[in-house]
Amino acid sequence: MIIRLAETKDVKSIIAIGQKVLLDFSFKEEDLNKYISDPAHLVYVADDKKIVGFISIRIEGEDAEIDAIAINSDRQHQGIGTQLLLEAIKDLVDKNVINLLLDVRRKNMQAFRFYKKNGFTTTSIRPNYYPEPNLDDAFCMKKEIIKQEKEKVRRKNEIILAIESSCDESALAIVKNGKEIIANTVDTQIKEHQKYGGVYPELASRLHLQNMPKLLKYLMSLKDFDFTTITHVAFTQGPGLPGALQIGSVVAKTIASYLDVPLIGVNHLAGHIYAGEFVKPYSYPALALVASGGNSEIVLLKESMSFKIIGQSLDDAIGEALDKVARLLDLPYPGGKAIDELVGNNEYPLINLPKVNVDGYNFSYSGIKSHVARLIEKEKSKGPLTDKTKCSIAYSVEKVFIDQLLEKLFIAAKDLKIKNIILGGGVSANSYLRKEITNRCKASRYNLFIPPLELTTDNAAMIGLVASKKIAINRMCKFDTPTSANLDLEIEGE
Ligand code: ADP
Ligand code: MG
Repeated sequence: MIIRLAETKDVKSIIAIGQKVLLDFSFKEEDLNKYISDPAHLVYVADDKKIVGFISIRIEGEDAEIDAIAINSDRQHQGIGTQLLLEAIKDLVDKNVINLLLDVRRKNMQAFRFYKKNGFTTTSIRPNYYPEPNLDDAFCMKKEIIKQEKEKVRRKNEIILAIESSCDESALAIVKNGKEIIANTVDTQIKEHQKYGGVYPELASRLHLQNMPKLLKYLMSLKDFDFTTITHVAFTQGPGLPGALQIGSVVAKTIASYLDVPLIGVNHLAGHIYAGEFVKPYSYPALALVASGGNSEIVLLKESMSFKIIGQSLDDAIGEALDKVARLLDLPYPGGKAIDELVGNNEYPLINLPKVNVDGYNFSYSGIKSHVARLIEKEKSKGPLTDKTKCSIAYSVEKVFIDQLLEKLFIAAKDLKIKNIILGGGVSANSYLRKEITNRCKASRYNLFIPPLELTTDNAAMIGLVASKKIAINRMCKFDTPTSANLDLEIEGE
């Protein structure tokens, strides 16, 4: 079957189909003969040895209106209508038409659904537009075809500027076609927060404000990269510190407005989950273990970008709990990293820590943390902690925290018969966690997807990668989309 422009010899068949299929068809032979030779009209036919359908469109400046579209009743539901529409749109784009318009009867649900599926939106309703004897309202519908064509071209050359500012890292990245990192720059505020022993939110916002222009200048100075080739701008919409999120969002919206490109809000946790995809594409269904400063979660991904949290910490996040224990051990912030550096790949005598029993695939850290706090206090009352005691406590806590995560993760994998395991989040930098999860996946013959070390903690490349997935499923956001400190991961792919 081919779609082609109508010719005089097709006129009789077009009229026959129109009269058979359409309620409001008034074309005469002389009208159609005129339309076929008139540059302000486009008439296409679907030709499968005989004419099986047609579309007729009238052009008026930047607008075009569909006068009629009909498919023979024995050839409906085969995608012929869509093919006619797409072929016509190609020509309309060449003729610089911006909007394609049409009216459809309220009662004609089949046609309404067809237009909706093909990207038309309802702009208004005209009551009683169609006269007796078939009195009905008209739904006026519109599709912005130039915008859609522009978006297609953009996707072919997709270059995303991604912005991350949810906590204490200001980060920008340029990600090409959802896979290639052209630039990935992070300005960490760790040093500035160290004197407070943790992240001081107000200071984080102020530092993002200072860092963002520096990072932008750096991107603009790159030799092999032209800032004006950016096709989309992405930003971390949440979860995170409210003030910190705002700064990234304002930067993103300003640049996207200036470059006149679409904007994508990304969930930070989805970013952590997908950081490993820079190494190799994921397989589904998969279970993701997100272990970071603010989150510890087991997430089920039935397919790409579908998230269901099936287990989580009932109190502190693992990173947060590690940071607190480290502080008691007089280790610098961020404590998880300091504990890892202290312990390395060594093993030390294990201290006795309480066993935690939590329902389902959930975990808990506060009980062990309080127990360790009392223990350290007792030790300190005897005198300064020795290196040996410090190492022993750090090793035991790290092991018991991480073992708890892994135990639940692998029970869930077994229960749900899932063989693809994803690791993500700042704590996934931890040497013991990386080694253990690798060994256990090998033993069970599971596929493991794990981010490279430099993409474990907060970065913007992971935000760019998720943004690319959202662009592919048409999930761009409006310019007035707010940030959200508690953004829900489960709605990310919807
Ligand atoms: P969030 O996204 O919640 O802000 P990040 O993903 O930036 O958190 O992770 C930061 C957390 O990761 C901190 O709690 C830090 O202590 C922890 N962390 C970083 N490196 C390591 C490591 N090597 N071992 C254990 N924890 C680590
Ligand atoms: Mg993070």
